[in-house]
Amino acid sequence: MSKFWSEATKRCVPYVPGEQLNRTNIIKLNTNENPYPPSPKVIKAIIEETDRNLNLYPSPTADKLKEEIAAFHHLSKANIFVGNGSDEILAFAFMAFFDSNRKIKYPAISYSFYPVYAKLFNIQSEQVPLNADFTIPVEDFFNSEGGVIFPNPNAPTGIYLEIESVKEILEHNSDQVVIVDEAYIDFASESAVSLINSYENLLVIQTMSKSRSLAGLRVGFALGQPDLIEGLGRIKDSFNSYTVDRLAINGAEAAIKDVDYFNDTRNRIIQTREWTIAEMNKRGFSVLPSQTNFIFATHPEQEASQLYSSLKEKGILVRHFQKKPIEDYIRITIGTDEQMQTFFKTLDVII
Ligand code: PMP
Repeated sequence: MSKFWSEATKRCVPYVPGEQLNRTNIIKLNTNENPYPPSPKVIKAIIEETDRNLNLYPSPTADKLKEEIAAFHHLSKANIFVGNGSDEILAFAFMAFFDSNRKIKYPAISYSFYPVYAKLFNIQSEQVPLNADFTIPVEDFFNSEGGVIFPNPNAPTGIYLEIESVKEILEHNSDQVVIVDEAYIDFASESAVSLINSYENLLVIQTMSKSRSLAGLRVGFALGQPDLIEGLGRIKDSFNSYTVDRLAINGAEAAIKDVDYFNDTRNRIIQTREWTIAEMNKRGFSVLPSQTNFIFATHPEQEASQLYSSLKEKGILVRHFQKKPIEDYIRITIGTDEQMQTFFKTLDVII
């Protein structure tokens, strides 16, 4: 603690991202990245832009990218905000819509960045416990003082909340913003984006990091009615008008346009996920119902922390959270079929 730190800096409890191992031949199944490379059209667009205009600032409004995202989602440009990964948009949204003296609600087991932002921006929060089966207790999210945020599907459980329940949460918080963090929605049944024209309090946040294989490029986007989008824009322009760089804008545009590649890779991941769940079940694991590109699994006889360490020793990284009530679970990102076969071969040696 330094005497030079502001009160905000003192409050900060930094987010700890999944570890990176500086070893070759690591199978990295710990941070829910996509195992497939981005579309070749994305690489081409980035290379072309590298050759062109890097001496010039990017478009502060990223209009063309917004238009492509809007067209994909059957909305208009005024419904779209783009940012440097959805993490940045989440930070902007906390500042734009939540006040320090009004308690917000989020699930006690969910994305660990929410408490980081709540602390940083001095926002009071109620962490709502999940049901015993790790589903979201919908009614406990009604009538928040200051707003609601939750991932759908949830992380790290992978469980999807039906759209009817999302609607109920929106209706019982009509004077507050409800943020639905849809980082993994492309591996699930139905997005809340279809509700945007009906609910002025809904902000959906999505990312190019998962289903579009662009975690390294850092592009996320928010979708909502123009008032909310304008609120995010005010925060952004007060920080840095150019949050999304030229390479990211061009790469992301190409990614959103290449619908065939997107459908192909996400379907492959969904198929591998279903196969992986069946293989885990054969080995005595219970796996929560996942609609994401990862699974959350527990074994009656195997200690999760031990499994995590043994896998790591053998070059496979998965995620273990030392937090009640999920300390008996490991989270495994779905890799390629080949990576998952190696994972099972290694697991069979361990257990
Ligand atoms: N929300 C959730 C629930 C996540 O798991 C992640 C990825 N760790 C993010 C948001 C952030 O993704 P990104 O900043 O890469 O868009």
